[in-house]
Amino acid sequence: QFHMIRHEDLVWGESLGQGSFTHVYRGAKKDQRDTETHTTEVLLKVLDAEHKNSWESFFEAASLMSQISHKHLLLVYGVSVHKSKNVMVQEFVKHGALDLYLKRSAVSLSWKLDVAKQLACTLNFLEEKNIVHGNICAKNLLLAREGDPNSDTSPFIKLSDPGIGVALLGKEVVLDRIPWVAPEVLETLELGQQCDKWSFGATLWEIFNGGEVPLHRLDPIQKQQFYECHSQLPCLEWTELADLISQCMQYQPELRPSSRAIIRHLNSLITSDYEILHASGTLPE
Ligand code: ATP
Ligand code: MG
Repeated sequence: QFHMIRHEDLVWGESLGQGSFTHVYRGAKKDQRDTETHTTEVLLKVLDAEHKNSWESFFEAASLMSQISHKHLLLVYGVSVHKSKNVMVQEFVKHGALDLYLKRSAVSLSWKLDVAKQLACTLNFLEEKNIVHGNICAKNLLLAREGDPNSDTSPFIKLSDPGIGVALLGKEVVLDRIPWVAPEVLETLELGQQCDKWSFGATLWEIFNGGEVPLHRLDPIQKQQFYECHSQLPCLEWTELADLISQCMQYQPELRPSSRAIIRHLNSLITSDYEILHASGTLPE
């Protein structure tokens, strides 16, 4: 199912923070090839000791990522178990999480659109394989290449593993995932076939709002009410994009567009249309 990595072959580096029931470190993995030892930079995700009974779900995420291969899906090298320490060993992605990147860097509209298209393409791949990810958000998109609009190189993203399943996370953590978690998932604690599309919509919102956390002012009760009232995120100025987001974030899962339709919609968006419109709107009368 997945590759087992010996604990002795791991080198531990600085802490990069914590996730849902995890602590994340930078590190390296040693491989013996013929007579030489190679080292590969890796990301080490350790399941918190107090949640060690979620190990099956944690390793299921690792297994899912090891079974499928796509250029925009993060590589998982394997897992390591040492005493009661459960570790997922994955590809280290140079520029880190997209939400943080967007907060510190100004990027063009076409850069953002490129990222959106890459994510849509990943969504299509997963849909064709009948796989539901269940934890799509800008934090789980890692930036492998920054790209540069002036030299015509695009950014390049990789979707990270989904982590512990919603059924095990507890109400508080799941409520905190509003507005990324699809409303039906909150009720059933099961991932339906259409739930990634909702999360995709919320992620688009994040990307085009410069990494701003949607609904950050709401406490968990208010977040729950947000869904109960079938509310929508504030509309983006770019109407054609706002349309796509609201189609993806429909409360009735069957009404959400297919990933092919999402790709078509994104391909029909032309950034210059929006930029010209936007610029003329700010000109004096
Ligand atoms: P969740 O399941 O909620 O996503 P997690 O365990 O995946 O939780 P994150 O919060 O997603 O933890 O990741 C913590 C931080 O670690 C991220 O903000 C990012 O900066 C960094 N990070 C995660 N994965 C990688 C990676 N593969 N390469 C480089 N940095 C990473
Ligand atoms: Mg993550």
